[in-house]
Formats: sequence, structure tokens, C-alpha cells
Amino acid sequence: MKNIVFLIICLSGLFSYGQIKSEIEERLSNIYDFALTESKSYNWLDHLSNDIGGRLSGSLNAERAVLWVKEELEGLGLDSVWLQPVMVPKWVRGTYEYANIESSLGNTINVNVCALGGSIASPSSGIRANVIEVKSFEELAELGKEKIKGKIVFFNRPMQANLISTFQAYSGCVNQRYSGAEMAAKYGAAAVLVRSMNLRLDDYPHTGVMSYGNLSLKKRIPAAAISTNDAQLLSSMIALNPKLRFFLKQNCKNYPDVKSYNVIGEIKGSENPEKIILVGGHLDSWDLGDGAHDDGAGVVQSMGVLNIFKSLKFKPKNTLRVVLFMNEENGGRGASAYAKRTKKLKEEHVLALESDAGGFSPRGFSFDCNDKYFNKILTWKDYFEPYLIHYFKKGGSAADVAPLKNDKTVLAGLRPDSQRYFDHHHSEMDTFDAINKRELELGGATMAALVYLVDQLGFE
Ligand SMILES: [Zn+2]
Repeated sequence: MKNIVFLIICLSGLFSYGQIKSEIEERLSNIYDFALTESKSYNWLDHLSNDIGGRLSGSLNAERAVLWVKEELEGLGLDSVWLQPVMVPKWVRGTYEYANIESSLGNTINVNVCALGGSIASPSSGIRANVIEVKSFEELAELGKEKIKGKIVFFNRPMQANLISTFQAYSGCVNQRYSGAEMAAKYGAAAVLVRSMNLRLDDYPHTGVMSYGNLSLKKRIPAAAISTNDAQLLSSMIALNPKLRFFLKQNCKNYPDVKSYNVIGEIKGSENPEKIILVGGHLDSWDLGDGAHDDGAGVVQSMGVLNIFKSLKFKPKNTLRVVLFMNEENGGRGASAYAKRTKKLKEEHVLALESDAGGFSPRGFSFDCNDKYFNKILTWKDYFEPYLIHYFKKGGSAADVAPLKNDKTVLAGLRPDSQRYFDHHHSEMDTFDAINKRELELGGATMAALVYLVDQLGFE
């Protein structure tokens, strides 16, 4: 008799487990169906990219984006939508840059450059100087002041082509862009030119944030990126004629900080309203393209997650919040302000998931959390199998959610295919026409699927 009772308990356990599993499978299928047929994300991105455009912090377009996103979130019928004020840096490119290589007196070839974000302008008549090419800060140090003074330092270490993760290749190079000017200025350089962070050979310069560290105002030097094709050209011309000169004129300017906003909206949790599941992206972008991949995609996918929950009438147990962060690109002020607010209000985030790696086909997620929570996540892998989502790795999340790190929160980043991302990143190639609707919507659905699982099953 005892055995029969035990068997019945076991069987009913199995039955309810099976029931829960098939219910979840059905919900996930509803999410993907909706995303591929009725989502608003692609049309939202069309507006954000084509009607508003590049949204550099402190610009009029960034303000327009804030107001438009707020209005769209209000239209979804969320429980609340609000703006969180934040002071942001204001850097303006001014008229477009001009540069050439002067191989001999009067013989010049024009090349494609753009100022790096935060850089000072060149003198109004431009800078003309000899060029010294280096691949690393060590090489710079070996050359020393004597060989560098008065010259333009050209950082030409390419992104490593044999790495599967292009983000890893980016990490291996980006110190040239971020700290190149600070380093070269210490040896008396006149300016720096940095090979664009791009794996492809083309004619588009890629901007991005740079820093002068603690350099005083008068020691700062102009910093620009040069397209990969022109970096190759310059390098080969230097090999033939080390005495050639380079001309750079740029007209950018730093202004005092201005007020901007994070845009936030939420659906209150039905069971645990004090526990928050956050999805987000960053609303600002660079100014050269329209910021469709970086990070318009993340913005509309995150808004899309709340639209999916509303439209499918899923009532989240926990509070589901979308945060569109301001100023990820050149300051991270929105992320800091949000993390500060979280601490002050003692808010508890269960999951903070950001999409900031382009609108390409989703592959999975990276997670920053403890082993126990990560092992729980791994048990959900099968649910994603029908959608070709397979990448669940520990290590790293995304820039705007990283400041929320603590023992109880799972930080995560959506990981789309990264092979083409750096063709577009921070350049005039980052435009809406480079977005594939299905890939974009699948990314949003994948975020919604993870959110659904976390909301229903939790990590404990
Ligand atoms: Zn980004």
C-alpha cells in the first residue's frame, strides 16, 4: 500500500512537472509568434532612426528621443512612466573633419577621418606634422620623448581577425582609442590618429569615446580615427617615406553639462511588486549614423518586451521595468544615476538584462551572477532550443546594468551574432537599412522569453 501511495505521489509530481513544462513551452511559443507577426519594435526603430536620427547626449535629437519614447511607453498602458533627470556631457563635432597625407611638398591625398568623442579641436588652421606609427603603448614608451615630440602618433594595431567574438577583438584594441591621446601627449605628440575599430577594410572612420585622464587643459591634443583603408594606405606610405606629413583639421568642442533623462516605464508585479525585473538599452548614440544598431535596437527590443507582456495579457508576478538609459556612449551618467537611485530606494532587482550588442540574430546571453543562479538558468536551456538560442555563458553583462551588481541580482546581456557588428559600430554605417526585421524581433522575443522564465520560476 505504502508503495502504491508513493507511486501515485511520484506520478502526480511528474504530471504536474510535465504540465508546467508544456505550459511554459506554449507561452514561449506565443511570445515568438507575437514578435514575428505583431511586434512594434521594427516600426519604432524606423522612427527613432529615420525621423529622429543620431542622438548624441546633450543634443536636440537626444531630447526629441526622450520625449518620443516616453509618449510611446505611455501609449502601451503601463502602470507608470517617468523621466529620471541626469546631467550629461555635451560634445559637439562641428563642421566635418578634413585630413590629407602629404607625400611631398604640394602632393596630397585626402583621407577619411573623424574626431573622437571628447577630443579637442585642432588649431583653426589645422595641424601639419610628421607621423610616427606604433602598435602599442609599450612601443610608444620605447621611442620616448625625443622621437615623438611634435609628431602625430598613429596607433595602428588592428582588431584581431582570428577571434570568433568580435567584442573580444574590440577589447584588445580599444585602449588605443580611449587612452591613446593621453599617452602620446605625455611624450609631446602634436595629435593622435587611431585606426578605426573595424574588422573590415573600408572607407568609414569610426568614432567612440576617448579620455585625457588627468592631463591639464593645455596639454591636451586632438584625437581622430582614420578609416581602415586609409590606415593601411598611411602605413604603407610611411614605409616608403618616413618623412611624409599629415594634415588634420577638426572643429569639435566640449560644452558645459546639460540636463537630460533616463526614460523609465513599468508594469507592477501582481505578487512581488517590490522585486524588479529590468530590461533596457541606451537611448543615446553617436552622431555619425542614426544609431540603429547601437543602441536603437536595444531600446525598441526592451520596449517590445513590455508590449509583449501587455498584448498577451501576461501578468508578471514581479515588477517588469524598462529603462532606456541616457549617455552610455560618452559618460555612462544615466547608468550611474539609475544605480544611485536603486541604492537610495533600496530597490531589489532580480534580473537586469540589457541589449547593447546590435540588432542581429540572437544567440543567447552572457550572465554575471553567482553559480547557484547560473546553474538554475542552465536548466532552462531546453526551452530555447526551438529558437536556436544556445549561448549561455558566465562572464559580463552590459555597460548600463553592470553598476547594479550585487549578490542577489542576475545581470545579463543579450548576445546576438557579432560578426557584422563592427562594420557599423560608431560610424555612418550604423543606419536603419542595416537592420533585418526578423533578426531584430527575434532578439526582443528572446529577451521576453528569459524575462518570462525568471518571472515565473525565479532563481531560488
Ligand atoms: Zn551601445
